Amino acid sequence: MLSLVANPRPLLFYSAGVHRDGLGRDGSKCKDGSVTSVSGPVLRRSSGLTRFILAPNPGPMSLDGTNSYVLRAPEQASVVVVDPGPEDETHLRALAGTGAVELILVTHRHADHTAGSGRLHQLTGAPVRAMDPNHCQGGGEPLGHGEMVRAAGVDITVLATPGHTSDSVCFYLPADGQAGSVLTGDTILGRGTTVLDYPDGTLGDYLASLDQLAALGAPTVLPAHGPVLPSLAAVVRDYRTHREERLAQIRAALRRLGPDASVGEVADAVYADVGPSVRRAAELSVAAQLTYLRGGGGGGQAAPAGR
Ligand SMILES: [Zn+2]
Repeated sequence: MLSLVANPRPLLFYSAGVHRDGLGRDGSKCKDGSVTSVSGPVLRRSSGLTRFILAPNPGPMSLDGTNSYVLRAPEQASVVVVDPGPEDETHLRALAGTGAVELILVTHRHADHTAGSGRLHQLTGAPVRAMDPNHCQGGGEPLGHGEMVRAAGVDITVLATPGHTSDSVCFYLPADGQAGSVLTGDTILGRGTTVLDYPDGTLGDYLASLDQLAALGAPTVLPAHGPVLPSLAAVVRDYRTHREERLAQIRAALRRLGPDASVGEVADAVYADVGPSVRRAAELSVAAQLTYLRGGGGGGQAAPAGR
């Protein structure tokens, strides 16, 4: 459950395997940016302290696939893996081969992030830590908000950022470059916008999480899907604008359809152009926004007055 891209945002996710730099997964540059061959996992640099391997699970909801990050300070033999991704043996063996895996962290419970956790734990012996105790393995303790983890020579601050799901966390690396970096999981994507996995994920929670992230300033954004982005502050601004546009569209639809319009009716009006593969995500998004507008926004927040 990842990204929903619909009008007025451009359709951007039909580019599986192609990165912002125009390189294919095998690193071969193609004239038109398309991929001609895929030769297997490639470890790419994403910031001073991080690299990533793109998992082979592209799709309409997962963009190019899951970015599995590998964290390591200079001169360190051990590494931390964030989001093992799908249970793909080649991908997981590649992650296990990046160094002595000391710790496995997951950003949230969705299978495109966690399905490979058990196998990666098996391959490396490293404990798996997540906010949700059900996704911890090998003696790994549940993550706590504000917790500082030091592993592979890297300082990692755990930030609870519910909204995409209730168990979503971001990992802030304050020493990664000038402004730091933040591994955002699905809370912020490299392109498109995040779908709220309603009713577990709520818009009230999500907006509060954006506020929390905005307070970090302008660290590099290391998303679980899509390209690395240079400034969190700019992305949070874009997300807020997008959410406001969507809420305005939903308010307008309710004015036309009546205040008690169903999720399906509003989705027909607001997401008329989305294909069947993302229709369910569109309905979830509408449901989350209707709940927010009708006063059950989650996160203990009252819904804003209509406008
Ligand atoms: Zn997700």
